[in-house]
Formats: sequence, structure tokens, C-alpha cells
Amino acid sequence: MPVAGQCLCGAVKIAVEGNALGGRTCWCRTCQKFGGGNGTTNAFFRDEAVTTEGELSWYENIADSGNITRRAFCSNCGSHVFTMGSGAPGFRGIRVSMFNDSNAFPPQAVIWTESAPSWAALDPTLPHFPKAPPPPSQQDR
Ligand SMILES: [Zn+2]
Ligand SMILES: [Zn+2]
Repeated sequence: MPVAGQCLCGAVKIAVEGNALGGRTCWCRTCQKFGGGNGTTNAFFRDEAVTTEGELSWYENIADSGNITRRAFCSNCGSHVFTMGSGAPGFRGIRVSMFNDSNAFPPQAVIWTESAPSWAALDPTLPHFPKAPPPPSQQDR
């Protein structure tokens, strides 16, 4: 059964098949900019496991990691849909805010903790990485 979701306005719909290949909350400064101050939480899937409908807009830049990162968001409401980066070709990090069930894909690590503000609530039960961890893979499950 695919896991489904949509953006705030409903113009962009998403479905993913299978298990996430890892999930992370990222506190890099870029994520804080579009996360409204918090980090972003992303569940990683292979490109072929992800289908979207609706019009996407894109923003591309060089991430703190040095990778070229492309981010897709809803052209109408601006909700973030997914991210893809040159450091992990073939994978997409789906913003967990897209899923109808916000508990569907909990994070398994917290990354870029050195950029997090002093008030950030970092889950002490998860592994922490000061910067970028290795790219997601099958072992990440
Ligand atoms: Zn929307
Ligand atoms: Zn980030």
C-alpha cells in the first residue's frame, strides 16, 4: 500500500511505496530558513518509489555540505515537497509534513546539530551528527 499525502492547499499530491531508507531531521541553516526556524524532517526514498501530481516549483542552491541541492515546493501554497541532492543521486528526501499521517516516517538521526540554535529540542535518543552524515543507503534503514 502506498503512503499518501498532500501539501497545505492540496494542489500537490504525493505517494511513496515501500519503507523509507532512513529519515533525518536537518538543522543546517538552509533548512532553518524554509523550516520557519526549526530544522526539516525528511524521509528518504529511491526516485522510482515516489510519485507526485500537481505543479512543482524548484529552488536550487549549494547546500552547507557543498552539494548542489534541488528543492521542490508547491507553486500555489509554497509547502515543501521534497529535496534531491548531488550527494545522494537517485534518492529523494520527502518532507514528512507532506504525509497525511505525520507519524508515518519518524526521523532516525539528527544532522547539522552544530548549526542548531541553543533553544532547539534535539531528540537525545537519536544519533547526532554535527554536520552531514553519509548519504542514505539500504543500510540506513
Ligand atoms: Zn499547495
Ligand atoms: Zn538541512
